[in-house]
Amino acid sequence: MSELLNVEELFASNVFTVAKMRERLPKKVFQEVIRVMEHGGELSMATADVVAKAMKDWAVEHGATHYTHWFQPLTGITAEKHDAFVTHPDEEGKMLMDFSGKELIKGESDASSFPSGGLRATFEARGYTAWDITSPAFLKESACGVTLCIPTAFCSYTGEALDKKTPLLRSMEALNEQALRIVRLFGNTEATKVTASVGAEQEYFLVDKDLFLQRKDLMFAGRTLFGAPAPKGQEMEDHYFGVIRERVGAYMKDLNEELWKLGVTAKTQHNEVAPAQHELAPIYETANIAVDHNQLVMEAMKRVAVKHDMRCLLHEKPYEGVSGSGKHDNWSITTDNGINLLEPGETPNENIQFLLVLACIMKAVDTHADLLRQSAADVGNDRRLGASEAPPVIISIFLGEQLEDVVKQLVETGVASSAKKGEKLATGVSTLPDFVKDATDRNRTSPFAFTGNKFEFRTVGSSDSIASPNTTINAIVAEAFCEAADRLEKAEDFDMAVHDLIKEYMTEHQRILFSGNGYSEEWYEEAKRRGLPNIQSTIEAAPTLTTEKAVKLFEKFGIFTKVELESREEIIYETYAKTINIEALTMIDMAGKDIIPAVAAYTGDLANTVVTVKEAGAPATAQTELLIQVDSLLAEAKKALTHLEECTAQATKIKNAKERAFYYKDVVDVAMTALRTPVDKLEMLVDSAVWPMPTYGDLMFEI
Ligand code: ADP
Ligand code: MG
Repeated sequence: MSELLNVEELFASNVFTVAKMRERLPKKVFQEVIRVMEHGGELSMATADVVAKAMKDWAVEHGATHYTHWFQPLTGITAEKHDAFVTHPDEEGKMLMDFSGKELIKGESDASSFPSGGLRATFEARGYTAWDITSPAFLKESACGVTLCIPTAFCSYTGEALDKKTPLLRSMEALNEQALRIVRLFGNTEATKVTASVGAEQEYFLVDKDLFLQRKDLMFAGRTLFGAPAPKGQEMEDHYFGVIRERVGAYMKDLNEELWKLGVTAKTQHNEVAPAQHELAPIYETANIAVDHNQLVMEAMKRVAVKHDMRCLLHEKPYEGVSGSGKHDNWSITTDNGINLLEPGETPNENIQFLLVLACIMKAVDTHADLLRQSAADVGNDRRLGASEAPPVIISIFLGEQLEDVVKQLVETGVASSAKKGEKLATGVSTLPDFVKDATDRNRTSPFAFTGNKFEFRTVGSSDSIASPNTTINAIVAEAFCEAADRLEKAEDFDMAVHDLIKEYMTEHQRILFSGNGYSEEWYEEAKRRGLPNIQSTIEAAPTLTTEKAVKLFEKFGIFTKVELESREEIIYETYAKTINIEALTMIDMAGKDIIPAVAAYTGDLANTVVTVKEAGAPATAQTELLIQVDSLLAEAKKALTHLEECTAQATKIKNAKERAFYYKDVVDVAMTALRTPVDKLEMLVDSAVWPMPTYGDLMFEI
C-alpha cells in the first residue's frame, strides 16, 4: 500500500488562507483585512505592516527565503521577480529576515521588457505591482526553494493597466454594481455583492521527454510544424474516458497533490479525445481567483511533467489532424446571499428575474459577438477553432430544448405559459434507478452553451489566460444589465415594463440562438444570412477592440481606456508576427539542416540500389519509381524552403505592426504550408530509419 494521503490536511497547506489570517492576526487587523477583501478600499500602512509580518513568519516557518509580486503581464503567462527577506545585518553581523507592509502592498519593477503596445515610452519604463487582496498569497516550491507569492496587479507609472488582472478586477466591479441593480428591482435587499464564478476545464497533451527533445518544433514552437498522420489517430474513440495509463496516472497523482497544496480544487481528471490528451477541471470559484488558479494549473502541469520525464504541451493544436486543446470557461453570477442568477428553477417560465438575466445575456452576446470572439483569440487557437472538433469562430448561444421553447413562446405570444419538464429516463433494469433527464441536453458544437445553471464558453484556447474572456463576458453583461436597469428603475408599472423588455430583447436578439450542428457547412451559410460575425483569425479579431462600440463599452465601466485598448490591439499584432516568425525560422532550420540532407542522402542510397539491381540484370522498376517520386518531392521541398526563407526575411523589414502581422498570415504562413506538404509526403515514403525525428505515432502513442 502506498502511504496514506491526508488530502484535507494537505489542501491549501501552501496558502495564506483566511483561516490562517484569523489565527495569526490580531482581531482588529483581521477584521480590516476582511472588510477590504469584501468591499474594497485600502489597508492602512499600520495594518499592512502587521499582515506582512504574519505572512512572512508563516512563510519562513514553511521554509520560504524569498517573496515575489506575482503578476500577469500581457505575455499571457505569469511573471515574478524574487527578493529575499534578507535585510542589512546589525553591527555585530546578525541579520533578521524582514518584510514590510510597504513591500507587501506595492512593488516597483522595470517594466520596459514587458509588452506594452507603445503605452510606456522607455524613459518612463517604471511599472508598479499592487497586491490583489482578494486573491490569497501562496508558497511556491521550486528549484529556487520556497517563495512567497503575492498575487498583484501590474500598472504603468501613469496608471494604465499593463496586465490581465487589472481589467478583470475592474470588470468584476462593474458587473457587481449593475447586477445589484437588477436584483434590487426584484426586491432583494439582502444581497450586498454579486460575483462572477468561473470553473475552467483545462486540456493538455503529454509527450515523452526524449522524443520531445528530438523535435525542434515542439521545443521552439510548442507544436509540430511537420508530421504525417499516424496509422492510428482518434477514430477508434478508445481514448476518451479510457483507462488512464500508469505513467500518466502517476503524473496526475503528483499534479493533484501539487495543486491541492496550492488551494486549487483539482476535481476531475480524464483522458480526452486524442491519444495522449487529457483534461483537468477544478471546482469553480470567484473569477479572479479562478484566473490565478488556472495560471497555477498550467505552471504545475509543465513542472510536474518535467519530474516525470515528460513534457506537457498546452498549445491549442500540437498535432495536425488530431483534436486540439481548449479550455472550457464555465461562468455564472451569484449574490452573496446565495442566489445564482443563472438558476432557472423548475419552472423557468415563471422565473422573471432569470428570464430578464437571460434576455440581457442574449443581448450582450449578440451585440458584442465580435468582442467575445476576440477575447478567446490567440495565434495557436487560430489553428484549432472551426476544425470540426472545436467550436466554430462564429459566436452563438445554445440554450437547450426547454429554454429555447420558453424563449420561443415569449417571442411569439408574449407569454410563456409552460416549461418542458425533464422526463423520466427508464433504464430498463430493475436494480438500477431511473433517472430524471436534464431538461437541457448538451451540444458540444456550441461556443457559448447554457449548461443548467451556468454558461460554458468553449472557444477559449488551452494555452491562453482566462482573464480576457471573463473580463469581456463581465463587461458586456454589465452593460446589458445597466441598460435594463436604467429603464426598469424608471418604470411606473414594473411588471408590465419587465415583461415588455424581456420580449423586446429576446425578439431583437434571437438570431444569436443556435441549437444545430455548429460544425456544419450549413451553419456558416445560415450565420451569414443572420449577419453574425465570422472572424477567422486573431489579427482580424484585433480591431474589434477599438471600434466605437467597444471603446464606449469599456470606457463607460472604467475597464479599459481607449489608449489601453489601442495598446492591446498593437500587442496582438506584435505577438502574432513574433510567433509565426519563430515557427517559420524553426521550419527553415529543420528542413534545411535535418530533413533535406537526410532525404538527399536517402536518394543517393536509392540511386545506388537502382544501379546495383540493374547491373544484376533486374529492371529495378519499383526502386526507380520510388527514386523519381522522392527526388521530385525533394525538389519541391527545396524550392518551398527557399521561398519561405525569402518571405521570412521580407517580413522582418515591414515597419508597421499590423501590416507585418497580416504579411505573416497571408504570405509566410502560406509558404510554411507549401513546405510542410511535400515534407509530410516524403515522411510517408522515406525509410523510417533515416527519418531525422520521431513521428506522430511515436509522439502520441509512446507514453
Ligand atoms: P461538464 O462540462 O462535463 O458539464 P462539470 O459539470 O463537472 O462538467 O463542470 C465543469 C466545470 O464547471 C467545473 O470546473 C465546475 O466546477 C464548473 N461549474 C459547475 N457549476 C458552475 C457554476 N455554477 N458556475 C461556474 N462554474 C461552474
Ligand atoms: Mg465542460
